[in-house]
Amino acid sequence: MDNDVRLAVLIDEGNIMTDEHTIDLDALRDVYRHERDRRIRPDGARQYARTAGEFGYYAKDPYTDRTEREPVGDRVNVLIIGAGFGGLQTGAFLREAGIDGIRMMDEAGDVGGTWYWNRYPGVRCDIESYVYMPLLEETGFMPTERYATGEEIRQHAVRIAKHYDLYRDTLFQTRATSLTWSDEGAEWTVTTDRGDEFRARFVVTSSGTLTQPKLPGIEGIDAFRGHTFHTSRWDYGYTGGDQTGGLEKLRDKRVGVVGTGATGLQVVPLVAEYAKELVVFQRTPSTVDVRDNRPTDPNWAAEQKPGWQRERMDNFLEVLAGDPVEESLVTDGWTKTPSLQREILSGSFGDSTDTELDDAVTMNRIRARVDEIVEDVPTAEALKPWYRYMCKRPGFSDTYLQAFNRPNVTLVDTADHHGITRMTENAVVVGDEEHELDCVIFATGFDAGVSGVVSGTLPVAGRGGRQLLEAWGRGPRTLHGFSTHGFPNLLQLGALQNANSVNFVHVLQEQASHITAMIAAAERSGAAWVEPTAEAEEAWVREVFATAHDTAAFQAECTPGYYNGEGTAAITGMTYSPGPVAFHRLLREWRETRMHEVLVTDEQAYALAQGAYAEATA
Ligand code: NDP
Repeated sequence: MDNDVRLAVLIDEGNIMTDEHTIDLDALRDVYRHERDRRIRPDGARQYARTAGEFGYYAKDPYTDRTEREPVGDRVNVLIIGAGFGGLQTGAFLREAGIDGIRMMDEAGDVGGTWYWNRYPGVRCDIESYVYMPLLEETGFMPTERYATGEEIRQHAVRIAKHYDLYRDTLFQTRATSLTWSDEGAEWTVTTDRGDEFRARFVVTSSGTLTQPKLPGIEGIDAFRGHTFHTSRWDYGYTGGDQTGGLEKLRDKRVGVVGTGATGLQVVPLVAEYAKELVVFQRTPSTVDVRDNRPTDPNWAAEQKPGWQRERMDNFLEVLAGDPVEESLVTDGWTKTPSLQREILSGSFGDSTDTELDDAVTMNRIRARVDEIVEDVPTAEALKPWYRYMCKRPGFSDTYLQAFNRPNVTLVDTADHHGITRMTENAVVVGDEEHELDCVIFATGFDAGVSGVVSGTLPVAGRGGRQLLEAWGRGPRTLHGFSTHGFPNLLQLGALQNANSVNFVHVLQEQASHITAMIAAAERSGAAWVEPTAEAEEAWVREVFATAHDTAAFQAECTPGYYNGEGTAAITGMTYSPGPVAFHRLLREWRETRMHEVLVTDEQAYALAQGAYAEATA
């Protein structure tokens, strides 16, 4: 860090500047650029190794033994790919709507999605449980804490599956390998990696976007002879204990944790408590704001009136989107910074200089908190984040910074070396410093990709055999993100050309309702299938681009990470910028007045099939 530049920023006494008029934005921007430039790598997103092929064992399921079964070759009404909260809510609403013949499929050994995989010590949701965990009133459950543990959330996914009888026809440990539409049967043929080949009238995909664990492509990573694993496949056989602690087997171990994102923040305090030595390898520090977790107050829980969860969820979304509310019901780290989050998410946008000043005040408070907690001055300096608040996923913890005051914990700042330099048989090397270790735990995140459908790992052939990715040759084309012309009865959940929010489970709930409404309308009306017209799709794509908030300038100034394509590209135009509140209003109106537009009659279906046939044979 260049001290002259930093001193220019710290024009106030100490480094706590809460008076926005004393902040020199030009100097602050210089510091941020300096910190970005230290970390930019020419190989961008190519620096990572996929946990496939030779590294496939990093992605192996440590929680459920593989069960052999016979392939299936039957027909179902609705196939839901993905049994996380998106798929589960869709299944729940379809059941409520009286729609039968539902089959859920997932690569995991059970429901839960991200909460199935991420069982590392300390795992919790960083969004308030009362608004994050879906269907609480419907299933009669109240979270025990404001920020529930991962295990409580996973168990809640199981509760939902049982409550709505969604285990009845599941295919776990199964990955769909192709989807092929047939006009004749008005159905999809689905093949899987278990040899299944069955038919489904509707296919709903909800397969997540942060699912494939990734590793840094560190030279010599495969030469290391000690133990290694990724946080999303925690090896409790090696560490002992469970998500709450008790990692007794680490008492005589020298452990390295690589990565200080949202996961690193949760893992480090517990590993620090048990390991003989812990070395934390940091490239970019996270913001670490106050967590303030607490047990659920039974009096508060008893006072809640029917409909309370919906009201609280809507209120949280409105506050973050910048919509006027009488009272903010959730007051936490997220509701303190809505205008800053809208810089890269969505909602109504204010004056950018005002936002930048707010950003600087927030970041100064967060940097000051490091000084208040961390005793060793060089360690505290290295833990201070120098970038705009939303350059990285905001972090919250009341135990992470404190862990660096323990005598057995060392922070190694790798920024000047663009991460870890290499690994040897028994050590992690940064620059010319070797750190001998028994175990290296990678908290290095996930491929920030898109669903299998969008990435092409699940090939989809629609009407006339046309591949979805070919139809999207010049970019994704959907109506509201859910459906594409030429791909009947294929309904997708996800943020693409749809809404986004930090409380993504809420967005998924709206999507599940909307998909259920479309399927129910098709069943009621006797439609041949559900499919948008090419005109409606074109109009939506134009709307998404016309209203897009350009985040390129903001992203270009950020330290690299998956939010900005590792500093090489800005990711824009993917979601509906006016925000989730506006989007959900738009969907409600559409359902009331325009639903009929996607319900394809038998005559229309015949004409569409003929058209596709003529095109394919031309
Ligand atoms: P991230 O991608 O956010 O973090 C990966 C970490 O690994 C970063 O600190 C990164 O540094 C570091 N890293 C990568 N390569 C190297 C290298 N070569 N040398 C040293 N360090 C390296 O992954 P997470 O698992 O922390 O989080 C992923 C996402 O999961 C979050 O953004 C969030 O959306 C979600 N999540 C949500 C939680 C919740 O409670 N809702 C909890 C946990 C995760 P750098 O920053 O410099 O790239």
